[in-house]
Amino acid sequence: MSASAQPYADQEVWFLTGSQGLYGDDVLNQVAEQSRSIAEILGRPGEIPVRIVWKPVLTDSDSIRRMCQEASASDTCVGVIAWMHTFSPAKMWIAGLSALDRPLLHLHTQYNLSLPWPSIDMDFMNLNQAAHGDREFGHIESRVGVDRKIVAGHATDLRVVRRIAAWARAAVGRHASRTLRLARFGDNMRDVAVTEGDKVEAQLRFGFSVNTYAVNDLVAVVDQVEDKAAAELAAEYVQSYDVVPALRPGGIRHDSLLYAARLELGLRAFLTEGGFTAFTTNFEDLGGLRQLPGIAVQRLMADGYGFGGEGDWKTSALLRAMKVMGLGQAGGTSFMEDYTYHLGPGTPRVLGAHMLEVCPSIAAARPRCEIHPLSIGGREDPVRLVFDAAPGPAVVVGLSDLGDRFRLTANAVDVIAPSEPLHRLPVARAVWKPRPSLAESAESWLLAGAPHHTVLSSAVDLETLTDYASMTGVELLTIDENTSTDQFGKEIRWNAAYHRLAQAL
Ligand code: MN
Repeated sequence: MSASAQPYADQEVWFLTGSQGLYGDDVLNQVAEQSRSIAEILGRPGEIPVRIVWKPVLTDSDSIRRMCQEASASDTCVGVIAWMHTFSPAKMWIAGLSALDRPLLHLHTQYNLSLPWPSIDMDFMNLNQAAHGDREFGHIESRVGVDRKIVAGHATDLRVVRRIAAWARAAVGRHASRTLRLARFGDNMRDVAVTEGDKVEAQLRFGFSVNTYAVNDLVAVVDQVEDKAAAELAAEYVQSYDVVPALRPGGIRHDSLLYAARLELGLRAFLTEGGFTAFTTNFEDLGGLRQLPGIAVQRLMADGYGFGGEGDWKTSALLRAMKVMGLGQAGGTSFMEDYTYHLGPGTPRVLGAHMLEVCPSIAAARPRCEIHPLSIGGREDPVRLVFDAAPGPAVVVGLSDLGDRFRLTANAVDVIAPSEPLHRLPVARAVWKPRPSLAESAESWLLAGAPHHTVLSSAVDLETLTDYASMTGVELLTIDENTSTDQFGKEIRWNAAYHRLAQAL
């Protein structure tokens, strides 16, 4: 998943313009010309990462319905932008909006930035009617009950472009969720509650499919990896990381590095063969695997795969969606777990890590490749990458199953360097200060029943997550600098009422 200016070059957002036949061809030609130029401004390479595809101006109910059906059937269209350049009587949109199965962004804009005060006449007024045309459209969107993001402002306004870009990233994330196939090697860690969940409901809500494979099916693929291929990948490790001498060629533990490389190649082959973009492992169920996969999982995450430890398929699927939403952005995205606290002196902070599986996309510097014993799992010592996470703003996000619905909980955090070098800690880690404070963040997080497994991302922002939650119809609770625990508790109760009422009988 390399970064580029247009990371989703094969995915499209359709730009629809509403009007009506009443105006005559001259005006409608101008409407077409102007809306095309707005679509072109939005489509310039840079902020909005998908292709913006302009569609002919819609002036009647049948063409609107057909366009919405075409968008919904398209394999490349991930979302629809609609703008009422002139007045488009909105009963014409009922059939189309009812049929639309794509995220909708209502762009409330105008071709002219400024009014030509001295020359303005009724022709100008009649051509530039979005101020009330979009109000008519907003009314029918509410009446039909269609979820949408509304962005108001001129197409050259950076705020407008960034809000559309966040929505477009969320739409691509939704698309990734709906096409996601997740392989679980083994089941959940025994007796753990939060990693459980309703996989059928997950497929209904998010669209991803979750299925379990015997870990020895993976072992068979790992064992088939050719020695030469494993040696080549181990050589790549030596090139890419600061590999400890014992693991290097000629070192007394080089065999462990070769096996770690074999594990990565086997996992990669299994996932590629099955069309999987996310997976889970469980240290309680390793079958014939000689090591718990460490560096293999870390490098697969860095390539964009979703992962969850201890059979945690929800976090794995969320990680995959966020990897896709963050594609091409600065920063990284990783599986994470709140591990232990520094409660003082100084600002309280979280030390996050996992047994092994933290993604090097969040690393501050070139990782070290080390081998250490693992007290759980009962296998050979696993090879892992060790590093500190890069400082900067980030989000920590968890997905939990409340029994009657899913809930996303997000916390805005600031990743910082460890207070002192962590010489004796043999795993990759991140240190962060949660907003608004550790105490209020943790009180709110626990009140939300949010999980201990999370996704930490410096590449996906809260606006994108908010859009993703909205377009998947999943509750999102946000903990940030404006949160107070008391208010947050009320929001949880209000949301519970809303979501139970919003569920179909
Ligand atoms: Mn865990």
